[in-house]
Amino acid sequence: MGIGRSGQTKCGICNKEIKDFKYVAMPQWNISEYLCGVCYSQKLTEYYIKREVKGK
Ligand SMILES: [Zn+2]
Repeated sequence: MGIGRSGQTKCGICNKEIKDFKYVAMPQWNISEYLCGVCYSQKLTEYYIKREVKGK
C-alpha cells in the first residue's frame, strides 16, 4: 500500500515525507537518505558541537 510510489521522499531520521527542500546528509553522518530541514539543521548543529568538544 503506497510503497514504491515515486515522487515521495522520506527523511532518513524522522521518516516524515519531505515536501520542501531535500537536504543531502554529510558523508560523516552515515545516512544515505535525504533529510528534512529540521533534522538536517539539528544534525548539523550536533556535528559542529561535537567537533568543537573533540578538537584540542
Ligand atoms: Zn526529518
